Amino acid sequence: MRTYSTRKRILVTGGAGFLGSHLCERLLSEGNDVLCADNFFTGTKDNIAHLLPDPHFELIRHDVTFPLFVEVDEIYNLACPASPVHYQFDPVQTTKTSVHGAINMLGLAKRVKAKILQASTSEVYGDPTVHPQTESYWGNVNPIGIRSCYDEGKRCAETLFFDYHRQYKLQIKVARIFNTYGPRMHPNDGRVVSNFIVQALQGEPITIYGEGKQTRSFCYVEDLIDGLMRLMNSADDVTGPVNLGNPNEFTILQLAQKVIAMTGSKSELVYRPLPSDDPTQRQPNIELAKRVLGWTPRVALEDGLAKAIAYFSGSNGGAA
Ligand code: NAD
Ligand code: UDP
Repeated sequence: MRTYSTRKRILVTGGAGFLGSHLCERLLSEGNDVLCADNFFTGTKDNIAHLLPDPHFELIRHDVTFPLFVEVDEIYNLACPASPVHYQFDPVQTTKTSVHGAINMLGLAKRVKAKILQASTSEVYGDPTVHPQTESYWGNVNPIGIRSCYDEGKRCAETLFFDYHRQYKLQIKVARIFNTYGPRMHPNDGRVVSNFIVQALQGEPITIYGEGKQTRSFCYVEDLIDGLMRLMNSADDVTGPVNLGNPNEFTILQLAQKVIAMTGSKSELVYRPLPSDDPTQRQPNIELAKRVLGWTPRVALEDGLAKAIAYFSGSNGGAA
């Protein structure tokens, strides 16, 4: 049942995190009522403090591994630590967050008949043997390694989404997000873009894991949020999974060189052991997103990096 307002009521789990805070901001600016639920494991109130005065924004401290009873029209399920350092800190809780979190949010969606979007990941492809990765590829994932709590948790969440869709006719949307970067990334979360920028700005050595020949494709946060919202608003028969990412692929060494050049840093490169199961290459095929969402990323790596560098240079950690 809708309230007197014509505004859509939208729940964003993990809304105080990096991607979630940008999503809350966009949804509010487009005239929605936004409910942000977060347990602040990796997110922070600082990311959404500027939204708190808005009467159409509401924040609740909630862990998605427990049921949540709210009345909403749409759910973006983003709650889950995303960087290897964070998701490996308490791997059992990581799996619970993906699996129990999905069950709870799908149960909520079923009760209130809400449309629900899952923030899945390119990690479902593991160390891919198909390159670039298309949605039809089933992946090459180690089920018992140190990344498995995240990868398999997200794979199981996808399974649950599709079973709720088939069994209960739930309206679902599954986005497979590739490496995304930008302002409000946690400065110490160990992800490569934040690590390199912080190291370069502080004149510390840039830590290259392995030989730096592994590749990633980096998407700027603004593009990604646009893709997520297009997916949520897509035709009913579009369930995904849909890859969302920037297909421009770089080696980690190339990224380090770019960051050094753009910051004018004197940092040197140091080589560290490659973490186990670290994928050797990753690049999204985004033909499906182009076709069904009319979406294509627009921000070039240099432009996005300039904004991320400005954020991390900010005296307060750079509230954006
Ligand atoms: P993030 O760590 O900044 O945000 C995750 C948010 O979820 C944080 O605010 C955290 O406190 C919250 N959270 C964690 N466990 C929770 C729980 N049990 N209950 C409630 N809240 C919880 O990470 P992010 O980069 O913003 O990622 C957001 C989502 O997008 C994640 O689901 C992640 O797997 C997915 N994703 C991100 C990327 C990327 O490159 N950033 C790539 C692929 C997928
Ligand atoms: N990486 C690196 N130095 C760092 C942090 C990461 O060389 O200080 C490498 C890491 O081994 C991986 C790539 O950068 O090959 C991307 O790592 P990130 O944790 O950002 O994302 P993911 O591995 O989940 O794609």
